[in-house]
Parts: sequence; structure tokens; C-alpha cells
Amino acid sequence: MKKFYHSTRSADDSVTSKQAILTGIAPDGGLFVSDQLGDDPLDLAEIVKKGYHGIARDVLGTLLSDYTADEVATCVDGAYADNFDTPAVTPLSAVGDDWLLELWHGPTCAFKDVALQMLPRLMSAARAGDADQGGVMIVTATSGDTGKAALDGFADVPGTGVTVFYPAGKVSDVQRLQMVTQRGSNVAVCGIRGTFDDAQTQVKRIFADTELAARLAGRNVVLSSANSINVGRLVPQVTYYFDAYAQLVKAGKVTCGEAVDYCVPTGNFGDVLAGYYAKRLGLPVGQLIVASNTNKVLTDFIETGTYDRRRDFVKTISPSMDILVSSNLERLLYYLTDGDCERVAGWMASLSTTGTYTLPAELMDRMRETFSCGFATDDETRATIRNTWEQEHVLIDPHTAVGKCVLDEMERAGRQRVCLSTANPYKFSADVLAALGHDVSDLDGFACMDRLEELTGVAAPLQLSSLRTAPELHPGVCDQAEMSAFVEDACTRVFA
Ligand SMILES: *Cc1c(COP(=O)(O)O)cnc(C)c1O
Repeated sequence: MKKFYHSTRSADDSVTSKQAILTGIAPDGGLFVSDQLGDDPLDLAEIVKKGYHGIARDVLGTLLSDYTADEVATCVDGAYADNFDTPAVTPLSAVGDDWLLELWHGPTCAFKDVALQMLPRLMSAARAGDADQGGVMIVTATSGDTGKAALDGFADVPGTGVTVFYPAGKVSDVQRLQMVTQRGSNVAVCGIRGTFDDAQTQVKRIFADTELAARLAGRNVVLSSANSINVGRLVPQVTYYFDAYAQLVKAGKVTCGEAVDYCVPTGNFGDVLAGYYAKRLGLPVGQLIVASNTNKVLTDFIETGTYDRRRDFVKTISPSMDILVSSNLERLLYYLTDGDCERVAGWMASLSTTGTYTLPAELMDRMRETFSCGFATDDETRATIRNTWEQEHVLIDPHTAVGKCVLDEMERAGRQRVCLSTANPYKFSADVLAALGHDVSDLDGFACMDRLEELTGVAAPLQLSSLRTAPELHPGVCDQAEMSAFVEDACTRVFA
């Protein structure tokens, strides 16, 4: 067995990529990393001739080397099939002199689908042969978007189940419908009376409940999470950096080997870290531009060398980027220090006790060789949505607009530039409509969708418009004290 993965905070114990994917987080609280990253670069001249599936096979086969070629192929073919509304999976389109990499053609219309359609299959394959009874129950609290992407990814995947809690009355109409209409024999959804933080706190308690864990272990069931620090979410995202490059080469926009810049709207630093992995695997990346909203903890870090989460949390119109602790940055620190676990552990300890840490100047210089940064306020984001529509006739969502705004302000280095487009604009119809200058105060989610269609002639995706008539299968709402029993009932039902 190839045990290449160990914690960012200690190299003492190594695990296979399958174990890393099933466990999620290392026992010491660190993130799983591999010292093999980049030892085995991909053959760019071959890669650029391939389509999405072929590139995904090469990327996964390299980074998750204890999966067999057959296992990887089955996972790739299952994850990226009719569930995406285009065979290209992540098509590239022009916006002005730059490119948008459309990552939202999956079932929930946002980029997390690319990883969350794959992760359940990787987990299922990792368990195969291990046991025919029991399985992995994913438990997630969601403020809206991740819950649906997890539900859709895990639905009906053998050996897995998924339970999602959302704060009742505190998600949008469309978000609620996306979750409560979810089909699948292994899914459970429940609203809770409380806030997202309440739900999150309870879920953490459920994970820490050793008596519950022991009862479930008796039935060979383990609880796990699907959050973005799992290597099984990171690795599938590396694929589209290569695929975007391949699309540019095929279109004659770059010659093979020429560097390209990528601009990434960022929250947890997962998506942009995947770009760094692609670079380590041989992709000619010029700059990786880290784009933040008003919660610009990463902009400040890249500019000053001090990471400081001691600041007010701001609710913005790009909510999936409203994050003050960008967990995946820990992996980059590991690679920047050439694998110095002790230093990484020290910074992370400092972050959790004091809320801040500072990197030495030479490491920051090293980081800035690849990473640049910028941020956009909500007003700038709205202006970007409006200008992009009026000048380019391209409709973009607020997260993508943060990226585009930052990109537009950067000086051009003469390279082709790709802005990652992370959500379909109709996922955020009200904010997009308001950005175009319309009064949305009396309109519900579907009315905003209709108005936006009339106004722009851009069709809303069927995945969202069909929610209007879909049956509500999970109407339940419970108290926080009932969440643990809800999870246990779901395990009993799913893993009978
Ligand atoms: C999650 C998310 C992001 C941020 O991605 P990270 O990997 O957390 O940096 C950006 N845009 C959208 C629409 C998202 O859902």
C-alpha cells in the first residue's frame, strides 16, 4: 500500500489516499498532504489533446495513486456524466479579452459540484471490499449551498448516506427547495430551529459523541464530513485548471508551454490551492490571483505577511466567500516551508490561541512569486455585474464578479487570463437583478428569476427553474436537541 499522505503538522504517521479520504482530517487536527506532489509531473503535450475525462483520470491517478486505474475511471465516468448539462463539464467562454471558466454546469449550479460529485464515489471505492454492511454517513450543517451540493453528490451512492441540517427560515426560498426536494434512498434533510452557527455547533457535538460513535460502530457505520479540507474534494478541482489550459491550446489561443494566469474567487482557499497543485504537476501557471470580498483576510495576509482573523465578520452578496479562517491555506504553508511540520503546527497553534500569525519575509516573497491578490466590496461587485452585462452581454454571479473585478484592476502581463466562474447567476437571482438596477423588494426568488430572464434573455437553468413544481420530500423541522436522534434514525434507515 502506498502510504503517501500525512498530516501538515507531523510526518510520523502516514496513510494511503483512501484512508485520508475516509478520515477527512488528520487525528492531530492537521490536513493531509503528500510529499510526492510534483515528483511525477503530467505530460503537458499529451494532456492538452485530451478531454475532461481523460485529464481527470491522469490527475486523480497521479495524486491518489493507491486507487487502481479501473477505480479511477469508474469514479470519473460516474461523476461527470449526464448530471452535468454539457459534455465539456467546465467550458471556457470569452469575456472581453479574458476567459471565464464555467464551473457551474453541475446539478446544483455551483462549482462545488465538480468535487462533490466525485468525493462520494472516491469514498465508496475506498470502502469497497472492506464490508458489505454499514457505511459512511456524512453529516453537514449548511448555510445554504454546500448542503445541497453534498446531498446531490451522495444521493444513491452505495455504502454512503448523507444528512443535512439547515437553519429553518434563514436560507433563501430557492436554497430551501433545492434541499427539501432532494431525491435518493440514502438522504435525510431537516430544518432546525436556530441559526447556522447553532446547527454547526450541534453537528460538532454529534461528531464528538463517543457513545453514539460506539453504537454506530457496532453496525459498521461511521460518521464523516464532506468539508473542503478533504483531499477527495481538493484533487478533483485540479482537473479543470489543466482542462481550461487544454481548451485554450485547442482553440489556438496559447501554444503548449506558454504561461496562463488564473483568477480565483476565494473563501476557504481550496479552489485556488488546486491551481497551485496544478502548477506543481507541470501546468504553466503565471500568476494565481486570490480574489476576496470584504472579508479580505487573505488580501491582507498576502500583502503584509500577517494572517489576522481578529476582525468583524461581514455578510456580503458573495456569501460562499464569507470566511475568516481559510483552512486550506495550511497546506500551502506546508509546501512553502518545504514540509516543515513543526513551523506549520506553530503557526496554527498561534492562530487558534491568539487569532493571528506572521510569516517571515523570505517565505512571503516565495508565496508572491506565484500568488497575487485583490478584493472587491459589494458595491464594486454590483458595478462589475452591471458593467459586464452592459458592455459584454455576459451575465455573472456575485462570486464570479468579485474575481472579475479584481482581475480588471490588475495590470496585464501579456498572458491569457482565466477567471474562474463559480456559480450560475440564477443561483443569486435577487442580488444579480438588484445589481442591474432593479427594485427587488417585493419579489420572491422565482419572481426574480423570471424578471432576470425577461430582462436578459439568458435562460435560467432547468436545475433551478424546475424546483417550482418539484415535490417537497423533506418538510421536517426539529429542535437542536433532536438533531442527534435524527442522525441515528437516518443511519438505521439507510444502513438497515
Ligand atoms: C465555495 C465557493 C467559493 C469559494 O471556494 P473556496 O474553495 O472556499 O475558496 C466561491 N464561489 C462559490 C459560488 C462557492 O460556492
